[in-house]
Amino acid sequence: MHNNTEKLIDPYGRAVTYLRISVTDRCDFRCVYCMSENMTFLPKKDLLTLEELEFVCKTFISMGVSKIRLTGGEPLVRKNIMQLINNLGSEVGNSLEELTITTNGSQLSKMAAELYNAGVRRLNISLDTLNKEKFAAITRWGKLDQVLSGLQEAKRVGLKIKINAVALKGVNDEELADMITWCGQEGFDMTIIEVMPMGDIGSERRLDQYLPLSLVRSNLSRKFNLIDIPERTAGPARYVKVQETGGKLGFITPLSHNFCESCNRVRMTCTGELFMCLGQDDNADLRTVLREKGEEALKEAVYNAINRKPKGHDFIIDRRSGTKSVARHMNVTGG
Ligand code: SAM
Ligand code: SF4
Repeated sequence: MHNNTEKLIDPYGRAVTYLRISVTDRCDFRCVYCMSENMTFLPKKDLLTLEELEFVCKTFISMGVSKIRLTGGEPLVRKNIMQLINNLGSEVGNSLEELTITTNGSQLSKMAAELYNAGVRRLNISLDTLNKEKFAAITRWGKLDQVLSGLQEAKRVGLKIKINAVALKGVNDEELADMITWCGQEGFDMTIIEVMPMGDIGSERRLDQYLPLSLVRSNLSRKFNLIDIPERTAGPARYVKVQETGGKLGFITPLSHNFCESCNRVRMTCTGELFMCLGQDDNADLRTVLREKGEEALKEAVYNAINRKPKGHDFIIDRRSGTKSVARHMNVTGG
């Protein structure tokens, strides 16, 4: 048995202080790299209730987690999600350093102010293009205008915004420079993400979308002076300052680089499966433990899971078939 005041330290000495939770697998978009058009979603009874999610979060907080990010699916389309956000937000500044959200931005026109009032200060908003037609093609169901109004409302209420754009070969590669300039003008940071091989997404083939960020970066270097900044967030991003805009630009390159040595995070799905590594399938079923055995058993299960956190991941795109190496869809663990 563990002493209950023990923090979460994995076998490689890394302290786990960051929990990402996918609060729903559902979404109002169907981005081509993330989902197929006809997704089968989980039955509602399999999902942790909002109360259970809050209980798990507070348990992790008591074990040393200081930062929580809610993601999905689209976190802001889960029914009554503000209940969870308000209750976790009230811990910010006390036991929790930060509560952040990754969102597609579709609900922000109506929810940004509530989020700010709940204690959220930063949002990651996914936006791969500023072109209406391309946006519709990438997200299948999304409307660019709705997201752009949401972004402006989030900015207006004082939320700090980072734009996440997935680099897609032949789709938005020519546009990334303009997006960097736009982010600079708006005061948004930006991160470019390399497409990852996850889940079966239907007809689109990974290799057709795959664009190495080394190439993106060298192309951008012809337009901008990119100055390395030492800042590391213990996450997968490397950051530069864009001299011309003054903005910060991150590159997330999970396929081309290892970023595992400083990993401080774990991810939980909306059904309570705890994944110790985004790139591996091993997970711990916290829902059964929580429902059948209660808080002490839950803590024990978390300690045991952290003890199995692997040293690193092993993503590979099979070059001949273009198939995935990890079977989960991104909306399950939330990226
Ligand atoms: N729906 C929210 C959103 O889009 O921001 C949160 C969940 S979404 C799964 C989180 C992030 O994962 C988004 O920035 C999305 O672009 C990214 N993503 C999804 N599938 C991906 C893939 N195959 N490769 C790289 N990034 C991916
Ligand atoms: Fe939905 Fe986000 Fe996946 Fe797009 S990336 S389908 S917005 S969960």
